[in-house]
Amino acid sequence: MSPLVARPVFTKTGWSRWNEPHIRDAVLLMVFALVTYAAADVYELPPYLLQFALDHPEWELDDLVFVVFILSAAVMTYGIRRYRDVVRENRARIAAEEHARNLALHDPLTKLPNRRFFEERLAANLQAAGAGKRLAVLMLDLNGFKAINDIHGHVAGDKALSEFARRASALLGRDAFLARIGGDEFSIMMPSISSVDEAADLAARIQETVAEPFVVGHATVRLGVGVGIAVAPDDGTRADELVSRADRALYRAKATRPSSARFFEPEMDARIERRVQIERELRAAVEFDSITPHFQPVVSLDGNRIIGFEALARWESADLGSIPPAEFIPVAEETGLIVPLGELLLRRACLEAKSWPKDLTLSFNVSAVQLYDPTFGLRVLAILAQTGFNPRQLEIEITEKALVANIAIAGKVIDQLRQAGVRVALDDFGTGYAALTQLLSLHLDKIKIDRRFVSHLGEGEDNRAIVRAILCLAKGVGLTTTAEGVEDQGQLAYLKASGCEERQGYLFGRAIPAAEIPALLKSRPWNSAVA
Ligand code: C2E
Ligand code: CA
Ligand code: CA
Repeated sequence: MSPLVARPVFTKTGWSRWNEPHIRDAVLLMVFALVTYAAADVYELPPYLLQFALDHPEWELDDLVFVVFILSAAVMTYGIRRYRDVVRENRARIAAEEHARNLALHDPLTKLPNRRFFEERLAANLQAAGAGKRLAVLMLDLNGFKAINDIHGHVAGDKALSEFARRASALLGRDAFLARIGGDEFSIMMPSISSVDEAADLAARIQETVAEPFVVGHATVRLGVGVGIAVAPDDGTRADELVSRADRALYRAKATRPSSARFFEPEMDARIERRVQIERELRAAVEFDSITPHFQPVVSLDGNRIIGFEALARWESADLGSIPPAEFIPVAEETGLIVPLGELLLRRACLEAKSWPKDLTLSFNVSAVQLYDPTFGLRVLAILAQTGFNPRQLEIEITEKALVANIAIAGKVIDQLRQAGVRVALDDFGTGYAALTQLLSLHLDKIKIDRRFVSHLGEGEDNRAIVRAILCLAKGVGLTTTAEGVEDQGQLAYLKASGCEERQGYLFGRAIPAAEIPALLKSRPWNSAVA
């Protein structure tokens, strides 16, 4: 709608109409015409025109001149008005464009530049950077922000973000550029630093200011910030390169300690490259079923008897060689490949274990991701039915961390499996900070004491006290105990004296292929050396 149409010209009366430019123009022109008419004097015309008028009195040239004069005045007024309108429209258009560009390049909440603006500015600065000039990119990621949003609501979360933006902006040097590039992610460009210490110093000061409590509404909350830093030209000369390397440094910083700062190091690239390779190879390995279970013996209290085996995944990749499960299981978990992989391994393990003596147990590891699926119990039972393996010979090992991650679903899955006769062990006990009451509310059969406590048994009273306490607790609530990672006679002697029922470790044997099990079982007393 044009501004002229929008104006209610005809509803106005009196002086208010004076402000309407067209009314004003018409009135001024009329006044001008009256004054000109009154003052007009044909004898004041230039002599040649005067003579012409006198020669032709019937043409009433004085009136004609007057009309021409008034018309030119009107045309001039119109011209000036149009010119002013065009200038005003132009200004409004430029302002609107500026506003739209501003909106497109800024984050509406914190008013900081957004990712697009940051990347544009970074690219421009890199292009303009002269030789020998260093430019730093800092990637920042807040810790604890999600909890503020969840506990205190989005308004509080927004306040915390704005306050962070305010505090961080106050610390920036004259030419540093701060942007909000995601939910709780920010980035800073320092276009010209003389040494990397300047970037480290800014990161430290931002961490300090973030450590101060944030007041959001009625609550006082705490945040932390992880920082990753990449510096041009050493770490790259392209904007995308620097951003992704600062990101990798941030990822590594957070993996060590969530609120720490780290510079990019070339080995981080190698690590990511390896991760990408493993993921690619893992997909193929799952598809072609080339990861197999090996079996590590679990030994009885008297040390004379193998009472079962724990299935441990083994992968010999054609391209990457032997890859330990500690490296590929986390990748399988992150990518969801653990679900098909877990099923393949369980099927194979059950088929192998079917030929073992009926009093031997097969222990099988389950990841948290598998437990997220409420039908997991049914899937296990289906595999048992398909392979014909006795559920009473199967023991599922669930880590403490996996249990805590999803205790409600885990509880249901455990009950389902136990009803079918499957036993359930709590793996890596003592590493997951689970509340004891939580763990005891689940119906477990066994606790496996983590290797780190066992391996340090000889080194001090603390670990011995922890192991004693776990054994005592387990006995109290009627759970069996297995000590993992027994490597020497000293550890074995202590465990025997403390009444730990089952043991596992290199002292009794490493994981072996299924084909070697019959020979191992026949070679009794296979462990007479250590019994
Ligand atoms: P875990 O379940 O705690 O398995 C025990 C790990 O300790 C195994 O490592 C085993 O080889 C190692 N080990 C056993 N005895 C000793 C010892 O005396 N000394 C030392 N230093 N180590 C010992 P592995 O096979 O590398 O497996 C590492 C982890 O990977 C396992 O820890 C388990 O959490 C996971 N994992 C292995 N196979 C599977 C699987 O099929 N599915 C799932 N979800 N996780 C698996
Ligand atoms: Ca285990
Ligand atoms: Ca374990």
